[in-house]
Amino acid sequence: MGVASLADLFSLSGKVALVTGARTGLGRGCAEALAAAGADILGAGPRPMPETEAAVTGMGRRFTYLPVDLADRAAARRLATEAVAVHGRVDVLVNNSGIIRRADLSDYTDEDWDAVTTVNLDSLFVLSQGIATHMREAGIAGRIVNIASLLAVQGGIRVVAYTAAKHAVAGVTKAMANELAPHGITVNAIAPGYMDTDNTAALRADPARTRQIMDRVPVGRWGLPSDLATAVVFLAAPASGFVTGVLLPVDGGWLAR
Ligand code: NAP
Repeated sequence: MGVASLADLFSLSGKVALVTGARTGLGRGCAEALAAAGADILGAGPRPMPETEAAVTGMGRRFTYLPVDLADRAAARRLATEAVAVHGRVDVLVNNSGIIRRADLSDYTDEDWDAVTTVNLDSLFVLSQGIATHMREAGIAGRIVNIASLLAVQGGIRVVAYTAAKHAVAGVTKAMANELAPHGITVNAIAPGYMDTDNTAALRADPARTRQIMDRVPVGRWGLPSDLATAVVFLAAPASGFVTGVLLPVDGGWLAR
């Protein structure tokens, strides 16, 4: 394999990538890395994302902000249509938006459960359904990448709805992968470990929990958005055409312990 063809295998030139939750943290890192690989970016989320936009357009790629509240499943359904309308196609979907609510089991409210499962699971499915249907109808060898969690395979502490939703994301990933493989569309998930983002602000503010966590991470540090983004580029690129239905840990070795 020549160098030029290897570069082509990792190129997203001419592709359009929809990233949910691209304003901050891991989603922003993904959007910027996908743009660096050549993709135009549709950034969806509840608030405008001028910093992501500046980074993407600074690389010469197009950026479009699509407002959406994924706590509303109907809005997720509309987002699929709106995203396709921007450039007439979506080649890559990164389902990154997610929220976490922490409470003891006895105090876990219906409201917490519904909010977490709707954003992290229901809307992920509905958006994937809409975008996958578009990919099939347009004959696009698309890529769907779901940002799951270590809590797709572990239980966690005081985050029961998040654990339920992320376990289900791993299942939905496999189910969609099986059904979409004959159409050349891959569906994979990533299980980020403990990453330095707003999602883990409460943990990082707690010295005892930080020590417990870092003692158990073989690489010995919090992960960075760039650690995740390069894995997303692989799963979004032509290079990964024979990889589908996996849950890829990007966790500094946490699950290997
Ligand atoms: P983050 O900085 O809190 O990002 C979460 C993103 O989700 C934000 O961009 C947020 O948008 C968006 N979002 C929240 N509510 C939404 C809604 N109702 N509709 C649409 N978008 C919404 O945390 P992060 O760590 O980057 O999280 C990204 C993903 O990684 C999540 O799925 C999370 O579960 C997963 N993850 C993170 C870690 C970690 O250690 N950080 C570990 C495992 C998995 P706004 O900020 O604009 O409101």
